[in-house]
Parts: sequence; structure tokens; C-alpha cells
Amino acid sequence: MKVLVATEKPFAAAAVEGIKKEIEAAGNELVLLERYTEKAQLLDAVKDVDAMIVRSDKVTSEVLDAASQLKIVVRAGAGYDSIDTAYAKQKNIVVENTPGQNANAVAELVFGMLVYAVRNFFNGKAGSELKGKRLGILAFGNVGRNVARIAKGFGMEVSAYDAFCPADVIEAAGVHACKSQEELFQTSDVVSLHIPATAETIKSINYALVNQMPKGGILVNTARKEVINEEELLKLLAEREDLKYVADIKPDADAEFVKFEGRYFATPKKMGAQTAEANVNAGIAAAKQINAFFKDGDTKFQVNK
Ligand code: NAD
Repeated sequence: MKVLVATEKPFAAAAVEGIKKEIEAAGNELVLLERYTEKAQLLDAVKDVDAMIVRSDKVTSEVLDAASQLKIVVRAGAGYDSIDTAYAKQKNIVVENTPGQNANAVAELVFGMLVYAVRNFFNGKAGSELKGKRLGILAFGNVGRNVARIAKGFGMEVSAYDAFCPADVIEAAGVHACKSQEELFQTSDVVSLHIPATAETIKSINYALVNQMPKGGILVNTARKEVINEEELLKLLAEREDLKYVADIKPDADAEFVKFEGRYFATPKKMGAQTAEANVNAGIAAAKQINAFFKDGDTKFQVNK
């Protein structure tokens, strides 16, 4: 089977090497399309491949139509909102992600950004400590669970809310389970977002919700910019001078947010999963999943069932 790695932003060289080794050991063939700049290059490269590994690359209906042999697409990473999963399902193409492989990388970044925020973005003035502060984790998935583990090391009081993960699973991890998003925002000095971008969550982090945070609240977003109602968050930041917002990837309205100097920070490029470890883990997991799919029909990580 022919497996294409199509990455506008390539994997680290060690990850590509690992992917190649896995794919070839299973008797499959690897082809690479890295740093492509035109959609036409992608449309041409997918023509005769049976499988694809992508990162944040857009796999639209046009790409899926051009890939007449395609049976499986694996997103090396967690979020798969860049892939037209419904259209792939119509065409009987399996879409998978590689959950958990970059979760520790993202969780560590949360604390890098948090320390930066509570120390006033290193302006030389006294800030505060994380120890004893209440951390609310919105969505107790792979990243959320790693955030909880690290938060305990900082001596934070940890709560979480997840619309699908049962409260007893959250409590079993030694984390207080909130009954609603509202309770989480009302009772947390810091709220860290780990929800996927879905029809329910897009723009769900809005004025009414964030305004429930106590005085001095910090909102940390390493999820997706789309989950934020930017217009409403800007209005709230203007009204409440005690609030801070830190994000991994610039909001669309970055030029408006930067006006809140000392209360806003965004990484210049999405940095959450950008570690050598996460890169290699996700790439190799994707290769193994493709091999298992062709060998045994394994679809354990399918996201468009
Ligand atoms: P995951 O699939 O392991 O966990 C997602 C959790 O969200 C699940 O527990 C699910 O039950 C919960 N959930 C879904 N809809 C919800 C809702 N409406 N309300 C509350 N909870 C809800 O994913 P993950 O690996 O923890 O990653 C979470 C998100 O973080 C990804 O979807 C992605 O958008 C983002 N992410 C960002 C980076 C980065 O580079 N910054 C890297 C990885 C993931």
C-alpha cells in the first residue's frame, strides 16, 4: 500500500525517519510531500495513494475527491477539525487521530504560560504563585488529565468539568468534578480550556461564562481559537481590568487583544505540540495505526464512525 505523508509544516526529521521505518517494515511504501505551498501539489500527490498522514493540513472534500484510492487518513495529533470527516465517511474513508501523543507537551505549555501570566509577564513587579490557587480544567481528556497531574505538583486545588467523561472518573484522578461549566468558572482562579472545536463548543467561551470568574481570574487557552467568542471576550477584558487571557495561537482579533497590555499574551505560532517528543510520538503512532488498519482492519482510533 502507498502511504503519503503530506505536511505543509513538516515533521521533525527524526519523526519522518521513524514513520518510514514503521511503514516499510510492514511492507508498505512511503511517499513524502513536505512544505507544499499550492493546493494543486496536494491534489496531485493524493491521486494514487491508499493512505495519508497529515498534521494541521486541510483535507477538504476536494482533496478527498482527488484521492480515488484513499482508504484512510490519519491526523498525527489530537484535533481533526481540519479534515472533512463527514464527507470522508460518505466516501467510506476512515479518519483517525492519534490521541494523547502530544498531551504532555500541551500540558507543560499551559504551565509555562501560567507562570508567565502570574509573574506579570516578567515586568519586574511582584506577581503571585500558583500554589494554593484553584485551577478549573474544562474537558478532562488527554491534555486535561496531564494538566491535572502537573497542577498537583504546583500545589494547586484542581477541579474539572467534562460533558462526556463521568464524574467518578474525574474524582478517581483526585480531581473535584464540577456539575457544570458555570460552576467551574465560578470556582476557579484559573480556567484552562481543553475542549475540542465542535458545533457545540465554537464561540462557547463567551462574556456570560468568563464573567463568572472570581476577581483576578486567568483564562488559558491551548485548545482552539475558534472556541472563544472573541468579540465578547474583548468586551469583558475592557470592562474587567482584573482579568487576564493567555493563548496558544493568536486570536483573529489579535490587534485588538494586544491593547490589553499586561493582561494578554499569545504565542506567535501554535506551540502546544511543538516538542521533539510529541512530533515523533504522533508520527510513529500514525504509521502504526495505518499498518494495523491494512493488516487487521483495525479502526480503534476512527473519529468518523
Ligand atoms: P481528547 O479528545 O483527549 O479530549 C477532549 C475532551 O473534551 C474529551 O474528554 C471530551 O469528553 C471533552 N468534550 C468534548 N466536548 C465537550 C464539551 N462540549 N464540553 C466539555 N467537554 C467536552 O483531546 P485532547 O488531546 O485532550 O485535546 C483537546 C483539544 O486540545 C483538541 O481537540 C485540540 O483542539 C487541542 N489541542 C491543541 C494543541 C496545541 O498545539 N495547542 C495540541 C493538541 C490538542
